[in-house]
Order: sequence, then C-alpha cells, then structure tokens
Amino acid sequence: MSQVIGLIGAMDEEIELLLSGMQTARKTVKAGITYTEGMLHGHRVVVCKSGVGKVNAAVTTQILIDRFGVNSVIFTGVAGAVNPELNIGDIVISSTCMQHDMDVTPLGFARGIIPYQDISEFAADSRLIQLAEMACRARGDRYLTGKVLSGDQFVASRETVTTLYTEMGGACTEMEGAAVAQACHMNGAPFVVLRSMSDKADGSAHVNFAEFTVEASHRSHQIVEYMLQHFDT
Ligand code: SAH
Repeated sequence: MSQVIGLIGAMDEEIELLLSGMQTARKTVKAGITYTEGMLHGHRVVVCKSGVGKVNAAVTTQILIDRFGVNSVIFTGVAGAVNPELNIGDIVISSTCMQHDMDVTPLGFARGIIPYQDISEFAADSRLIQLAEMACRARGDRYLTGKVLSGDQFVASRETVTTLYTEMGGACTEMEGAAVAQACHMNGAPFVVLRSMSDKADGSAHVNFAEFTVEASHRSHQIVEYMLQHFDT
C-alpha cells in the first residue's frame, strides 16, 4: 500500500507554508473543506485546513482517510500551554489526546471519559512521536511529549488552566487534536498532533494568541518539514 500522509491545520497560518512549499497536483472541495494533493519532500501528501473545533476536525479526518486514502495523519498548529513549564513557542508532541469538554460527571464518569466506550484517551503513533522528537532535538526546540487536551472552547483563564493541569494532566489545550485522534483511532490510522504554544491559556491568552500565532504556526511547520524529510515509507 502506498503511503499518503494527511497534513491538517485548523487555520490558514498553520498550513500556508505547507501549501507554498508543495508541488500541487490537484485541489478538491468536499464538505466545504479544500484538500490539496501533491508532493512534499518526495512524499504523497494531502494538505487541508479543517477549520476550528472538533466537528470540523473529525469530518476532515474521516474524509482524508475515506476519500484520499491517507494512512498517516499529522496535525500541525498552535495551542495554549497548560503545563507550567511550557513557554510561548515551545512544542508539545501528543503522547495522547483527550476531550476536556466531554463531561458526563453527573452520571459518575470522570471528566473526559466517553461513556460506554473502551478508550477515551487516544494514543499517538510511537514512530511519529519519535520522529517529531528527533526533529525538535535536531532543531534545538524546547519540547514536551504529553497529553493534548481538546475542547470546543478557547481557554483564557488561569483557573481553568490549573484545573486542566491538575485534574487532567494536560500539557496543552486546543480545539481539534482529540477529534483527529478519535477519528484516526476509529479507522486504525496512525497520527500525531504537533502544537507550538501561542499563549498560556490565561488572562492574556487573547493578546498572546494574536501576537504569536504566526510565529508559533511556522515553528510547528518546521517540525513537519523535518519529519517529512526523514519519513521512511
Ligand atoms: N482564527 C480565530 C479563532 C481561533 S480559535 C481568531 O483569529 O480569533 C484558536 C485556535 O488556536 C484553535 O484552532 C485552537 O486549536 C488553537 N488554540 C490556541 N490557543 C488556544 C487556547 N488558549 N485555547 C483553545 N484553543 C487554542
């Protein structure tokens, strides 16, 4: 089976360098999302902007797998830091992904647990994690391999961040990763989520996000570039 790598970002800033660097073969619009097929560093890739949030991310991932035969998925983008050791610009590589806004606690389930389902915390592919770690080390990026928490909310409160860290053990928080992860898990497709910190998900998050998103997006993109250069098929 030939390798096709799906590369997803949620916003233009997160995929613009991928699009400008690839040899484009074809663009297809499906469910309002533009999928760009082509070659990047000798690999067949499909690049797309999912839009913000878990539903967009899940639909996009399913289409990548069904329609474009993608068999590995890399998400690249920005996030709010949750682990207090992280600074703006640092990288988080997903060890696992979980939805922090899946909340069925009134029925006795712990926060983040999807009821009546074996798995609620989705493990990223160990080979893709290793490749991303190798990229960070080679580039001298500060990185942490940890739990990516996703929810349909822009987190901008110190209190919430503290809870996400102490109760859920999150490394960072964003709005798409766990949806990509769950869709990949349901289809048996390996994935990894890469996020560079645009903010600290606190009271200054909206200001920091505006200031650092482009720079952080490009930093995450550099990791993807390195991964593709060292990806063996
Ligand atoms: N593009 C819009 C909305 C961005 S929403 C704007 O310019 O206002 C924030 C995006 O960045 C989401 O895709 C999310 O995954 C990520 N993100 C960055 N910091 C975040 C935070 N503190 N909380 C949640 N998501 C965050």
